[in-house]
Amino acid sequence: MKTHAIIPIFIPHLGCPNDCVFCNQKAITARMQPLGKDDVRDIIEKYLPTLSNRGIKTVEAAFYGGSFTGIPIRLQQEYLSVAKEYKDKGLIQKIHLSTRPDYIDSAILDNLKSCGADIIELGVQSFDEEVLRLSNRGHSRESVFRASEMVKDYGFELGLQLMIGLPGDTHEKSIRSAAEAVKIKPSIARIYPTIIIQNTELDHMYQRKEYIPLTLEDAVRTAKGMYLILKNSGINVIRIGLKSTDIINENGQIIGGTYHPAFRQLVEAEIARENLEKQLQEIIKSSHIPDKKSQKNFNEKTPPVIGFYSNGPSFSYMIGNRKSNKLYFEKKYPHVRFTFHVDPNLANQAYLAAPIAHYGSLFR
Ligand code: SF4
Repeated sequence: MKTHAIIPIFIPHLGCPNDCVFCNQKAITARMQPLGKDDVRDIIEKYLPTLSNRGIKTVEAAFYGGSFTGIPIRLQQEYLSVAKEYKDKGLIQKIHLSTRPDYIDSAILDNLKSCGADIIELGVQSFDEEVLRLSNRGHSRESVFRASEMVKDYGFELGLQLMIGLPGDTHEKSIRSAAEAVKIKPSIARIYPTIIIQNTELDHMYQRKEYIPLTLEDAVRTAKGMYLILKNSGINVIRIGLKSTDIINENGQIIGGTYHPAFRQLVEAEIARENLEKQLQEIIKSSHIPDKKSQKNFNEKTPPVIGFYSNGPSFSYMIGNRKSNKLYFEKKYPHVRFTFHVDPNLANQAYLAAPIAHYGSLFR
């Protein structure tokens, strides 16, 4: 059951004079009415009733979109004052915003502190200077370290957003970016694959054949490597992949890149599959399970049965997107029968493979 909910408040490009090659915020902003204080209130009021009686313990008002701290301080205060009103009443617990690393200084942080903000996410995207330059990010890796230190020193929760598949990026560079992010020790992180949105500079680069997007397979491999580095360092990776609402706004048509509506599922499923296959190989090695259908001791009528187990929330990762893991094992090990089970005793994203007759004994 979800105990955490986010009320997203979309602040368009307003605060951002930049033009990152992949970003279509400017086009969206041109079509949107500027957000007023009452709009923020309306959004919060609209969401709150939908969150009651659902066992939700933490509600966050989250300002997304452009670069929040790039907008005039007076406007930041206006928006935040509404969120703080709800926080003071105990109706929301945290105020969350995202911005650029070069839009952080002590005046900005003093203001955010006095306005009750709790979480600051920095759009880092990459720690590689060439990738930052080719993506027209307009900030350096040094500014990320500096801003992150300041955010943490002020006592805010820090989040870092990383992207894969930007111009000039490689698998190795992305993996290094995840390792650099770990050094900063943020509490949360997000991993976004690059997508090409119509009429962005990236779209033009793509049309001129100056940019080649990652294949979905490569994007999953890179995101998986980064995710494991971050997760194994105790960082809560709150998102992998874009939600359709992050990008699909009025004419924000995707031209290419690696958008997949269940991108996280693809990454998690691959991790689950590798984990289970490792255990399966051990079982095959240490028991009398034939490793091929053709072997003499294989009995078609009583094939060995291997159970795969996960808890409820991780079950869909274990099965894989469109049953990809189930199909993978059935195809690769046709001499084994696989069964898939929920075991609530297992932790999230913990997977277990066991010959079906042996499973119970594991818990005795
Ligand atoms: S900093 Fe953010 S909002 Fe500004 S152009 Fe880049 S991606 Fe878009």
